[in-house]
Amino acid sequence: MPAGLLDLPATELHKVLHGPALIHLQGRNPQPLFVTVLQHGNETTGWEAVRQLLQSHYEYDQLPRSLSILIGNTEAAQHRLRRLDDQLDYNRCWPGGHHEDSDLGKLFRQVTDRARSLAPVAAVDIHNNTGLNPHYAAINRIRPEFLRLASYFSSKVVYFTMPLGTQSLAFSRFCPSATLECGQAGEVHGIAHTMGFLETCLHQSEIPATPVDPQAVHLYHMVATVRVHDDAFFGFGHVPTDVAFRENLDVLNFQELPGGMSLGDINGGPAQPLIATDVDGVDVTDQYLRFDRGHIETVRAIMPSMLTLDRRVIQQDCLCYFMDRVHFEDHIEVTDHDPLPEAIGRSDRPGEPRL
Ligand SMILES: [Zn+2]
Repeated sequence: MPAGLLDLPATELHKVLHGPALIHLQGRNPQPLFVTVLQHGNETTGWEAVRQLLQSHYEYDQLPRSLSILIGNTEAAQHRLRRLDDQLDYNRCWPGGHHEDSDLGKLFRQVTDRARSLAPVAAVDIHNNTGLNPHYAAINRIRPEFLRLASYFSSKVVYFTMPLGTQSLAFSRFCPSATLECGQAGEVHGIAHTMGFLETCLHQSEIPATPVDPQAVHLYHMVATVRVHDDAFFGFGHVPTDVAFRENLDVLNFQELPGGMSLGDINGGPAQPLIATDVDGVDVTDQYLRFDRGHIETVRAIMPSMLTLDRRVIQQDCLCYFMDRVHFEDHIEVTDHDPLPEAIGRSDRPGEPRL
């Protein structure tokens, strides 16, 4: 560990690290836990958890197992940004993505090969998100050891096979891997929760591949992306806009909503103010929502995720995703690690999660 590095917050790492850095710390069990932090420069919980864990518990004691730490985008972290304008998104540059020929893609190929040669017990990639979301894990393969790893962090687990080029997808070919979404950056309980999770992983002799209790893990996948119609003026709370969403709409993230629930009032504007599209971009709004009674109303049970109150995100990206429960007992992979599985009915691909 470079001297003094653990004293630096994410915004100052650039003073020591002039690019991505891979650090190996030797522990009693040589098989490492592979931890990735700061792929997105403003998502600081991972680095805070790693440095506080090492400072508080292992300054003098030997680690129970080796730890490989990849520190990602220190340049963007300096500016508290996800990435700089002239940079690729780090978490799209891993093997299997569309940027394998970029400088970063080549570097991450080297990192992946190096990691693979170390046979990590597991790999975790630590992120934050916007809006009010519970902590959850995301996995790319439905195998008991992946579900188990995710369950150490949260009972809420999302399965995804798109976008390509994410670290957890690349590493899923040779070890249990997960992306952790640790709430909003800077939250103290997110750092504490992540530290506890890392501690748990460090003390496991392996990630068991025995069956996971379906009650212990609730697995979801995306079935639709929901956007606001370009011509619909929208606001939150009691406002005279075409669409007046419920105040605190984002408290509904990861809540299983019943059919017949109102997400807000409609005062005018387009007849169909929200548009839900499936994997093929087909308009499937009718399957989930109705607008004919002065409200935005669910027509069936559904679970939203990534609901945000950030107007810019809503306009540039989307309002939210709709998710359905996956009964993973019916989808457990029985093959070896290669090749990667197909998506479940391809219906987990309507949008790219903001990982
Ligand atoms: Zn991220």
